[in-house]
Amino acid sequence: MIGDDPLLTDEESAYLAETRRALDEEVFVGRLDREHVRALDRNEESAEDWREYMRRMGERDLLGISVPEAYNGAGGTFTETALAEGAIGNRGSIVHACQASLTQHIGRTMYEHGSEHVRETYLKPMLAGEFVVAQAFTEPASGTDIAHLGTRAEREGDHWVVDGEKRFIDFAPYADVLFVPVRTGGEAGDREGLSILVVDGDTEGFEVLERHADWHGFRGTGASWIRFDDAHVPVENTIGEAGSAWSYITNELNLEHLTISRYCLGAAERALAFAANYTEAREVNGRPLSRYQGVSHQLSECATRLDAAYLLNTRAARILDRDGMAAGRMEGAMAKQFGNEVAHAVADTAMQVMGGVATTAKYPVERIQRDVRAGRYMGGATEVMKAIVQHDAYDRLRDEDFDGSLVGREHEGLPW
Ligand SMILES: Cc1cc2nc3c(=O)[nH]c(=O)nc-3n(C[C@H](O)[C@H](O)[C@H](O)COP(=O)(O)OP(=O)(O)OC[C@H]3O[C@@H](n4cnc5c(N)ncnc54)[C@H](O)[C@@H]3O)c2cc1C
Repeated sequence: MIGDDPLLTDEESAYLAETRRALDEEVFVGRLDREHVRALDRNEESAEDWREYMRRMGERDLLGISVPEAYNGAGGTFTETALAEGAIGNRGSIVHACQASLTQHIGRTMYEHGSEHVRETYLKPMLAGEFVVAQAFTEPASGTDIAHLGTRAEREGDHWVVDGEKRFIDFAPYADVLFVPVRTGGEAGDREGLSILVVDGDTEGFEVLERHADWHGFRGTGASWIRFDDAHVPVENTIGEAGSAWSYITNELNLEHLTISRYCLGAAERALAFAANYTEAREVNGRPLSRYQGVSHQLSECATRLDAAYLLNTRAARILDRDGMAAGRMEGAMAKQFGNEVAHAVADTAMQVMGGVATTAKYPVERIQRDVRAGRYMGGATEVMKAIVQHDAYDRLRDEDFDGSLVGREHEGLPW
């Protein structure tokens, strides 16, 4: 949203203002200031950096925002979750927003489906900011296609024995806990037979094989290729019913679609702000760049698309507030595919109108542009979001009174 959203309630506006203040004055200060965010981009992060960040976020109630306070959440709404994630992407960086976001959707899933053991042992300390968290869905042979994941867990007494590999796993080297979908039954491709395990980061048999240090953007998370080799995980660390995790995963993704696109939009808005200020100050042929329509209309287009994406995202959050995590699949997928494409296009346009200096680290715009590119894959690629939208849109648009047999024979009678 360009400027403040006049349609937020007074409580929501106050929440956003306080969140921004806390981020600027308490979270992203000292070790976590803007210089430090650039150091993360050079992969100079440490486990202690992430631990300190989570401690500060937990103290400010910015983790697991929709989870009740009894479990150390903020007892807030999904709309507040979206507002906070957008602000973190805008004020800090999207890798910080991502770590917080993991607590939003993993926390909510633990709260909705976890046993008291899971809630007490993992959820409460996680939301107090005592843990760095990782989510390990993606595998070498199955990314988008979660039903084909190959990591298996066999039951042996009161433990699962886990074997398999995952890749692109942010925060894996630092994680105190990992949220890991595995197959405990059924065949590859089945929706039945999937389970989610909470795995301690120091579990024997869990190892980091390789770090993706040189990838395009999203640096500083220690993203890694990991392996579980005969790793023993207590059965009591299963979330909900073993074999029934498909719906937990898809519900969780409804929230994740929203948070990923929201923090990327927050970052893109920051890039656009740099472009606006820069083009007003930079003169070419004796007049500011902002006075050239070729430039200012690009900003106009970006501003309009950012606002449209914000509105789609906020609508998806309000649907979750009203109807719960299982709702709003299509609206969440719309928000993600449109939001992530817009965020990337806006960051790229910001670089374009700023000229060559935007490709240097003098401004954070090139980092934002690299970072938001990842949003077009993470949590489901844009093409997958479009597949969800087309599926649900066809369902909603289908008219039982439309007689398809008359299509191509309209001279005999109209189908509608
Ligand atoms: C920076 C970054 C951070 C990440 N962090 C994590 C993490 O912390 N944890 C984690 O588990 N994963 C993480 N991922 C992985 C991410 O979720 C996957 O990259 C994503 O789910 C896509 O999987 P894939 O890369 O295996 O691509 P594939 O599934 O192989 O798909 C490749 C491409 O094919 C197309 N495609 C796929 N399916 C369809 C379809 N149904 N219809 C049309 N087109 C389709 C899309 O263009 C897609 O990009 C991260 C990825 C990135 C880039």
